[in-house]
This record gives sequence, C-alpha cells and structure tokens, in this order.
Amino acid sequence: EKSGYGRDGIFRSLRPPLSLPNPNTSMISFLFRNISSYPNKPALIDSDTNETLTFTDLKNSVANLSHALQKHYNIYKNDVVLIFAPNSIQYPVSLYAIIALGAIATTVNPQYTVHELSKQIKDSNPKLIITVDSLYDKVKDFEIPIMFLGSGSVKKGVFCYKDMVLGSGSVLDLPKVEVKGDDTAVLLYSSGTTGVSKGVVLSHWNFVSVSQQVTSDQRVMGEKYNVFLCFLPMFHVFGLSVVLYAQLQEGNCVVSMNRFEFGGMLRNVEKYRVTHLWVVPPVILALAKQDVVKKFDLSSLKQIGSGAAPLGKELMEECAKKFPHVKVLQGYGMTETTGVVSVEMPFMGPRHSGSAGRLIPGLEAQIVSVDMGKPLPPNQMGEIWVRGPNMMQGYLNNPQATNLTIDKQGFVHTGDLGYIDDDGQLFVVDRIKELIKYKGFQVAPAELEALLLSHSEILDAAVIPFPDAEAGEVPIAFVVRSPNSSLTEEDVKKFIAELVAPYKRLKRVTFVNSVPKSASGKLLRRELIAQVKSKM
Ligand code: AMP
Repeated sequence: EKSGYGRDGIFRSLRPPLSLPNPNTSMISFLFRNISSYPNKPALIDSDTNETLTFTDLKNSVANLSHALQKHYNIYKNDVVLIFAPNSIQYPVSLYAIIALGAIATTVNPQYTVHELSKQIKDSNPKLIITVDSLYDKVKDFEIPIMFLGSGSVKKGVFCYKDMVLGSGSVLDLPKVEVKGDDTAVLLYSSGTTGVSKGVVLSHWNFVSVSQQVTSDQRVMGEKYNVFLCFLPMFHVFGLSVVLYAQLQEGNCVVSMNRFEFGGMLRNVEKYRVTHLWVVPPVILALAKQDVVKKFDLSSLKQIGSGAAPLGKELMEECAKKFPHVKVLQGYGMTETTGVVSVEMPFMGPRHSGSAGRLIPGLEAQIVSVDMGKPLPPNQMGEIWVRGPNMMQGYLNNPQATNLTIDKQGFVHTGDLGYIDDDGQLFVVDRIKELIKYKGFQVAPAELEALLLSHSEILDAAVIPFPDAEAGEVPIAFVVRSPNSSLTEEDVKKFIAELVAPYKRLKRVTFVNSVPKSASGKLLRRELIAQVKSKM
C-alpha cells in the first residue's frame, strides 16, 4: 500500500532499505571510517572563537583525550563520565573520547540547579565530571573528580582540556579497547511516558543505525559538503545524535554556538554559509515573523528542519513562503529512539501539510487504539508505537519502566497520539503521556509535583501543561494548601524557581480544595487539562 500499511497491522518505512554495517561496529571507529578521503575538511567550527577542527584534528584530539582520561582520571570501560557544559567544539571531542574508551557518557543541561544535578549524579554514579570554569560552583561539593573544558582557572586536581589533549606532545592512536555494538555508549535522561527523569540507555549500535537513518535522504539526494549550525543543546538527543554524530560520520561540518540568540544565528548562517538549519518550533516562529531576517544573506540555506515539539501547518507554510529557495521540513522523534522516528522527504517537494513526515528507513510503526489496544489502519488515530534498530536498550536500573515502554515485540510505546494517512505521512496530534514541552525542553510534571509536596504547607498538587504561543507549553500547578496556610501564588512560584532550571518554573498556581484522583489514588491530570481547556 502507498501508506506502507501491511496486513499484519504494521506500517513499514517507504524509504529505500538501510544498509548497515556489522552490528558489532563501535560508534567511534564508524565515525572515522572514511576520513582518509577528506582529512583536511573542517569537521567542527566554534562560532564563538572561530576555532576549527578538521576531521584529522578531531580524530587526533579524541585519541589524545582518551589516553589522558585514562592516565589522569583512571577512566576505563563501563565507567560513567558526566558532561555538564554548554555547547562548544570541545564538547563532542570529550563525548567521543569517553566513548572511545568503552566508557559511558551522560549529559546534563548546564542550566540545571545543584538539586537537579544531584539527582542525575546519584542515578548515574559518574567517576568524573567534565564541566567549565563558570559552572564549577555547582559541581565542587560532590566529591567527584573534575575536568575543565577550555583553559579555566587553576584548581587543585582539575586538569584542563588543552593540557590533556596536548599533554603527550605527540599524536596517539585511538585506544585499543574492544567495543561491541550492544555496549552502552550514552546515557541520556528523559521522563518518557510517566514519572521523573530516567537514564535512557543507548548503545553504539543505536547511534550507528540512527546516523544512517538520519542521513539516508541526504545520500539519496547526493547532498555533499553540508554545513549544519548547532545551537540545539548538545546534551539533548537532537543536538547530540541527529546533528553532531549523524552529520560528522557523514563528513559534514557542524558549526557550534554556545547559546541560542536569534540575531547571532542569522549572522552565523551568513558567515559560515550554513546549508542546514535544524531547529525547534519557536525558531520557526521567529524566522516566519521577524523582519530582521531580511538583513542577512541566507542564500546558502537549503533546508530548515523543525523537531522536538509540534509545529503547526500554518506556521510551516508561513516560514516556507518567506524562504522560497529553502525546504521547510518537520521531523518527530524522542530520546528513547536515539532522536528520530519520522521526517518529511525533502525530494518529494514542498507539502507543508503539518505532518511529521514519513518513517525513517528501517522503522516499523503501529497505530494502536487507546481503549482496545488494537492496531489501526491508515487515517485512524491511536498511540504511536515504533520499532527499529534505533530503539533504546531500556531505562537504567529500572526494569519496571522499561517493560512499560518497550513491549515483548520490541515496540516502543511513545505516549504520543497520531495517525498515518494514505500516503504514509505521520501526523502527531496530541500527547497522552504526562510530559510538558517548553521550547522542546522536557518538563516532567511528576518532578514538579514531588517538589511541591516537599513543602510543609502543601498537601497535594498536580502539574499540567498550558498552551503558550512562544514556548508551545508552560507548566502550571493546582495546589491544595494545608488548612491554616497563608501561602500565596508568588510564594509557591518562588519556592519552585529556587530548585529548578528556569524553563521548568511554574507560570501559574491555582489553589484548589482537591485535585482529581482515580479510585486507586492515581492523579488524573487529563481531567484537569480538559477542565482548563473548557474554560478557555
Ligand atoms: P524528547 O525525548 O525530549 O526528544 O521528547 C520527545 C517527545 O517530544 C515526543 O514523544 C513528542 O511528545 C514530542 N515531539 C517531538 N517531536 C515532535 C513533533 N514533530 N510533533 C509533536 N511532538 C513532538
């Protein structure tokens, strides 16, 4: 069928089949497999310092840093190293140096408070923290060895990136560690369909596979020498997997920005002749609406791709009209799928239907009715289930959550609601899971509710998303105070603001007598969401 739907109730990718290497391939040897044909091509450019690493520089830096990590910090296979830093070109070098040792990298949003960071440290148990001078105060009390990216001030026991990479005075080979495809490479944190953040275990094979799935259209189109701009956070799967790893292994150049700023983004597109701009929906909004766009030469752009949160048809159309020479596409994915499930096919011509495109190669999906649990045919709405080589291995030390998310047939239950039409286009319509997405960042209601409940004057609480034109959604809370409490909305907002990163702050607090619960005491957030919707 044109939709890819089969008699067994499974939709299959309409793209040409994947050709993947041996499943025991290590992600690092795969990354550098072709670089002898482009040794001096720029791999990474730091737009903040203009520093450039060619592919040879990248490989040499990764090799030298690997050895230095072993020498100075005793990092060996299966050790966890935590990276807590903003974007830079040293970020991917560190990431790959850890992985080249067979060790495991876990990444943290640099906006995180000590409170948030401590939870991930406790869960992942890192042997080393790689950070920057300006974040030192947040990590210094954990009694875990520290390394600085960049130079940084001199601190006892802290080695700096530059000294570590140049320290040996020569160029070393990549470490000779036996790494298999199913070894863990990266531990990313996501709340998935329910509860608080969990460690998503991603293997070398997950990254090797997804890199081929992400770049398959580029190969079909014969696109070469692409330049990607990366202000998407490198700690998140979109930046880390879809942009950095997938594009670098393909021989493309990635220009790094250490933080997002709209004017700076436009300036960098002009300066570095960027071809691919992969963004989150608020950037599409700005590109569509802001006149400052006209002040820059953006003629190098071939593609603007949006992901990580829903993007409506109207906005896609508006953006496409403003950039007639550019393909405006949408993709859909999640941390648990190493970043991607579907994306529009650029060679199909512009459609701007608001769809999240078609399944990437090697992917199967089922649309499953929420009440009956039955697979549905095209055009009917249900929960999106997906299966393929890019599905996570599971949640770290959490078989219960793992079994709730991946079924025995290997399908990941995404917690997203949608349908696939007669042409195989996937439409993501709603979210049945609790997750709130602020500009593509994850906000887990369960985390904020637990913090609210830790307040001595709060008896019960529920957190739900509220629509917001710029951020997509913001978190709001319904709170039950203790009988004689004089707690105000401002007090509650402030209490939370001191504990969490800025994007998780509560935008509104409503005091109520009770929050809706099922007979078994389960919080019924959907009921609150429906109540709020009906009042709007
Ligand atoms: P994360 O693991 O942070 O990437 O979050 C994944 C979730 O973001 C998905 O399960 C969706 O709920 C949401 N999401 C990502 N891309 C899209 C999209 N194109 N449309 C709608 N929701 C999306």
